[in-house]
This record gives sequence, C-alpha cells and structure tokens, in this order.
Amino acid sequence: MSELAYPYEAPASQALFDRAAAVTPGGVNSPVRAFRAVGGTPRFMVSGTGPYLTDADGREYVDLVCSWGPMILGHSHPEVIAAVQDAVSRGTSFGTPGEGEVALAEEMVARVAPLEQVRLVSSGTEATMSAIRLARGFTRRAKVIKFAGCYHGHVDSLLAAAGSGVATFALPDTPGVTGAQAGDTVVLPYNDLDAVRAAFAAHPGEIACVITEASPGNMGVVPPADGFNQGLKDLCAENGALYISDEVMTGFRTSRAGWFGIDGVVPDLMTFGKVMGGGFPAAAFGGRAEVMAHLAPAGPVYQAGTLSGNPVATAAGLAQLRLLDDAAYDKVNAVSKEIQGLVTDALTKEGVAHRLQTASNMFSVFFTDRPVRNYEDAKAQESFRFTAFFHSLLADGVYLPPSSFESWFVSTAHDERAVQRIADALPAAARAAAEATA
Ligand SMILES: *Cc1c(COP(=O)(O)O)cnc(C)c1O
Repeated sequence: MSELAYPYEAPASQALFDRAAAVTPGGVNSPVRAFRAVGGTPRFMVSGTGPYLTDADGREYVDLVCSWGPMILGHSHPEVIAAVQDAVSRGTSFGTPGEGEVALAEEMVARVAPLEQVRLVSSGTEATMSAIRLARGFTRRAKVIKFAGCYHGHVDSLLAAAGSGVATFALPDTPGVTGAQAGDTVVLPYNDLDAVRAAFAAHPGEIACVITEASPGNMGVVPPADGFNQGLKDLCAENGALYISDEVMTGFRTSRAGWFGIDGVVPDLMTFGKVMGGGFPAAAFGGRAEVMAHLAPAGPVYQAGTLSGNPVATAAGLAQLRLLDDAAYDKVNAVSKEIQGLVTDALTKEGVAHRLQTASNMFSVFFTDRPVRNYEDAKAQESFRFTAFFHSLLADGVYLPPSSFESWFVSTAHDERAVQRIADALPAAARAAAEATA
C-alpha cells in the first residue's frame, strides 16, 4: 500500500492510540485490535447501539465484528442492559455461589445435549486450558492433538501451531512458551483424518485428547469437511482419548445448540465463551458428567477462579441466551446470507478472485480462487487485496475484522438500513481489491 493508502483521518483515535502506546504494549490489550495486519489507525470506539459502533471522532460504522462474536443481539440490547443493571444494583461480586450462575448453567445444559455439567470461567482461554488439564487428568496421558490454524486462546501448550506433518512435535510459536510446554502438543493439518490416524498410531496410549474448533473461524471460516468431526470422535473413542470441541466462537451463535446443533457429533468435553457472556467476561467448559466429576472439589483435578460465575456477567449471558430463540437465529442467518450475497456480487462484478466460505451465519472472504480447507490454503490467499478492501469499507463506515484470517459476524440488529450501508460501500471496496497490488 502507498503512503496515501488511508484516504481519511481519525485524529481522536490517533491521539488515544498515542496515549495508549505509552502505557500499554502496542497500544492495545489484545493484539489483533492494533490493525497491524492492515495498517492505519485502530478506531477507538466510544459507544455501540444495535448494528452500529461510534468512534472517538464521531464516525459511525456498521459493525461486522460484533466484539468478535459475542454481540449477537447487537450492541446495547435493552433487555440485556436491563438485566445487567438489575444485577449490578445488587452488588458486583460475592465470592460465594449465587443463583445466576446456576440459571446460566441450566440454560446451557438444556440447549446442548452432550453438556451434562458445566464449570464457569471468565475467558475462552481459561475454558480450553482447563478442559485440556481435565482431559489429561482423566486419561492420565500427556499428549494433545490440535490443528494448525485453530485458535484456542493463548494457552501455552496450544500456542504451538508451527510444524507440520504427521507426528511432528511442534515448536513453540512464541517466546515464553517452553519446549516442555509445547512438546506434548502434536499439530496436524486441519481436515486430514489420515494425519490424525497416523498420529494415534505413532503414539499409542499417549494421546489424552484431540481439541478442535467445532467449525474453525480463526483462520477465516474453514468448516469441517463432511465426516471430519465424526471421524475425530471415532478415532478418539477407539484410542481412549477425549474429543474436545471448542465452541467458544460457534457456541450459541451458529444455532441454538451451537455447532453441535448442526453436525450432531457428541464431544466428551466442550468449551464456550463469547455469546454466552453477553458482552461480559464469562466462559465455560463442560461435558460428560463422568469426566466433569474429576474436577475439584468433586475430584482431584484442580481448577478455580475468583470471578468465575460473576453475577453481572452471568446475568448478561443468561439474558442474551434467553432472547436467542429460533426466530433470532432465523434473523441472523437471513441477514448473514443477504450480506454474503452482496459481497459475492460486488467482488464478482469487479472480477476479483475470491472464495466466500460459510459456517451457518459465520462467513469470511478469502482472496483466492481455490477452496480453503486448511491453514496452508488460507495462507495462500492474496491478503494485500483484503487490506485495500478493508480500508475502503472502513472509510465508508463499515467495520470489518482487521485481518483476512477472521470470521465476520452479524447480529439480529443488522436491519435493512445497516445492510444498505454495506451495499452502498461494497462497489468501491471491490474495485479497491481489484486494483490492489502486492
Ligand atoms: C476466542 C476464542 C478462544 C479464546 O477466548 P478468549 O475469551 O479470547 O480467551 C478460544 N477458542 C476459540 C475457538 C475462540 O474463537
């Protein structure tokens, strides 16, 4: 991109970003927010209403990030806000059990058949970290299979995504994760059951679990091939390992019962976050009661949290889940389809090679003409086209994830006016993508 790549300014956001950079590494509290992949000034948001976000410069955007998934009812949904206000008025944390956490767990268990018991935590990272510990404690085995391109939070052993091929022990992807922490992680290509079969054969009696995103959204949207999840489940069952389905992103978003509601494959353990917190830090892991019984204080595997089951967070999550009936999912799915169609039409019209991939109402665009089945395929796209596409949309008031390796998210609040705003912005963005050079 040239130095004139960003045809607009965001002085208030830039001033905040400069202040932030002085007191926070890179100016952000989660790396992808910094716009490093696309360049330019990250927008500091000051408010959100329905499908819109407003930044510090007073510009309004149609939000296609939805806080990376949680805001499936849009921002400031009146009933969620009311539930939060009601909870807050009674105190914000007790460090004791409370009814709210029971009600949230009951709602989750009622929706997702394989969930017999859940333990609430505060982030998706905590959920996957704890699920892995429980799987290791339950099986008394050490090794974990994960897939390249699947993100399970910043758990030490799961940050190993490097290395490829069957039975290759991963090198840590980041300084600070030791070889010992990553050394029990086997990283395999996604959608490749033969690689999983070979890994089980290479490490008989050593694999504690396979963890996978129920339908990956963290390398862009790359759904499981037909039979892939069932194949994982079967291989785990044959080899005495647990099948962990990470539904932090897909849970309560892709259907009432998350991705399980779509493919019906029964995991031993599942992890949740994002939508179930209603915009607050709440997450969970759960599954078969027989496995969950190994968790303290019922069993020996330790796990705890000062703010776990926080009354405000659980009130927000419960209010949001109760509003997510079949009609709500129909609405999210319909608006998602509509936007998918607009994006495809705009890019096709400009002759831009692309693949729009979907998983229920989650979708993303890869700038390539080949199907994307795994991380290698995803990395082969022309990301420079995304950069041009992104900045054109941003200038016209549409906020996409600032990376071509992320799912886009919509909500029940994305109405005709919001969709029209996207439709109006797309032709110029598609042209920018067509004209972009590496
Ligand atoms: C977001 C995400 C996580 C991590 O959740 P945090 O709340 O950010 O720690 C884990 N797994 C998946 C699939 C995710 O999308």
